[in-house]
Amino acid sequence: VISSGLYRASVQCALRAWLRARGTEPAAEPGNLDALEQLRALLPLRFPAVGVRFGERIGHADVEARCDVYQPCGDGSVRIGAARATTQVRAHDVDALVLPYWILRQRGVSVASAEVLYLNPDYAGGPDLVDPEALILSRDVRSELEFLSDDVAGELDRLRALLSSPEPPDVPPSPHCHRPRTCGFFPRCSEREPRDSIAHLPALTPARHAALRQLGAVRIDDIPADFPLTPRQARAQRAHRTGAVEVSPELASALRGSGPPADYLDFETFGPVLPPFAGTRPLQPIPLQWSLHRLESDGTLSHHAFLAEGSGDPRRGFAERLLAALGRRELPVLVYSPAEGELVQELARALPDLRAPLEALRSRFVDLLPAVREHVYHPDFQGSFRLKRVASVLCSGLSWDDLPRVRDGAGAARALARLARGGLASHTVSELRAALFAYCERDTLALVELHRALRELSRAAD
Ligand code: SF4
Repeated sequence: VISSGLYRASVQCALRAWLRARGTEPAAEPGNLDALEQLRALLPLRFPAVGVRFGERIGHADVEARCDVYQPCGDGSVRIGAARATTQVRAHDVDALVLPYWILRQRGVSVASAEVLYLNPDYAGGPDLVDPEALILSRDVRSELEFLSDDVAGELDRLRALLSSPEPPDVPPSPHCHRPRTCGFFPRCSEREPRDSIAHLPALTPARHAALRQLGAVRIDDIPADFPLTPRQARAQRAHRTGAVEVSPELASALRGSGPPADYLDFETFGPVLPPFAGTRPLQPIPLQWSLHRLESDGTLSHHAFLAEGSGDPRRGFAERLLAALGRRELPVLVYSPAEGELVQELARALPDLRAPLEALRSRFVDLLPAVREHVYHPDFQGSFRLKRVASVLCSGLSWDDLPRVRDGAGAARALARLARGGLASHTVSELRAALFAYCERDTLALVELHRALRELSRAAD
C-alpha cells in the first residue's frame, strides 16, 4: 500500500521513499510531532457537527491516505482537512492533501472543500478560554490541489517502479535533504559520502548543487576555479584543501569586547499548541530553564541555573532569577543564537515592570554564532555551524553522549513539555529535572570552551 507519508517522502527523495518502504528506521526528524498530536486532539472542538470523522482512512486501488477531518456533506460531496502544526501555510503543508484529494477524485467523489487547518498566530488566550474557531484557522487549497493532482498518477507509477527494485536508487545527499526539513536518513546517507563531498559546502542552494553536479563535481576539490562561491563556501573549500581549520584574520575583531570576564547563557523552552498562559500565542516558545556559566578574569569558573517548578506561568520567576544573577553586572553575556535575545525581548513585553532591566540585559548579549559562521571553518564541520558540531570539533573531549536522557534540544523540549503537563510520578520528575540541568549546563560549558578555542584561533591567525 502506498500511504500518504510514503508518497510525500518520494516527493522529497526517491531514496527516502525506498528506505521507508523497507522499514528502515530514520533518526528522529526535526518537526513538532507532539504539537501535531495536540492540534489533532483539538479538532473535535473545532468541528463539533454530527457525522464528522477524525483520522479517517480513504483508499483507491493500492493507495491509502489519512484525513484528519472528513465530513460528508449530505449531497454526496465531502469536506476534508489536514492539520498542520504551523502558524503559516507553506507549499509542503498543501502537499498533505494531495493524495486524499486525488483519491476522492478517482472515486468520483466531489470535494466541497479541502482545508489546511493551522494555528492562528494572533490568537492570545489562556487554556481556560479555548475558542477553537479563533485558534484553528483553515484555508481551502482546492485550486492548488487541482493543479498538483495532475502529476499524481505519473508520480505513483514512478514510485511503484522504484519500490519494486531490490536495489536502492543512487541519490547522493544534497540541499534537497533539508527541504522542507532535514531528512531522518541524513546521518546514514552523509556518512557514506566522502568527507569533502560538495553536499557539505555550507548554505549551498539546490540550483548551485545541481550546477556543480552538471559540471561533474562530486568532491569540493572538483569545483572549477571560476565557479562562484560565497566567502563562507570559499573558506570551506580552503579548509578541505589544507585539511585544517581555516580562520579569517577578522575573527579577532569579531570577538572584540566578548571577554573574558564574561557570562555564558543558554535558554530551553517549550512551545505548546494551546497558549498556556494569558497573552501567549500558539507555538510561542515559553522559557522554562536557563544555564549560566561565569568566567572571571582570573580564570575562575562558576555555574548558576534555573528550572521552573510546577505548572504555573514560569516567566516572572525565570526573568527575576535571571536578572538577580546577571542584572547588576556589566560584562558581556555570550550566547549562540538569536533566540535568547528574542526571548528576553518577549519577556520585556510580557513583564512591563521588568522591561528596563531586561532590555539593558539584552543589550549586553554577544552572539558567537555569526563570528563562527563568518570567520571559521573546519573540514569536520561538514557544512554545519550548530553549537554541538562546532564545539565537538574545536574543543577536544567535549561531548553530550554521556548525558542521561536528554542529549539534544528536541529532547529537552520534550522533557520540558512533559514536566509542564504535570501528572508525573515524583521520581520521574526528579529524573527529568536532573537530566535537564545536566544538559543545559553542558551547553553553556560548551560555549565557554568554544569561546576559549576561538580566542586561541584568532591569536594564531593574527
Ligand atoms: S538524507 Fe537525503 S539522500 Fe538520503 S534519503 Fe534523505 S533526502 Fe534522500
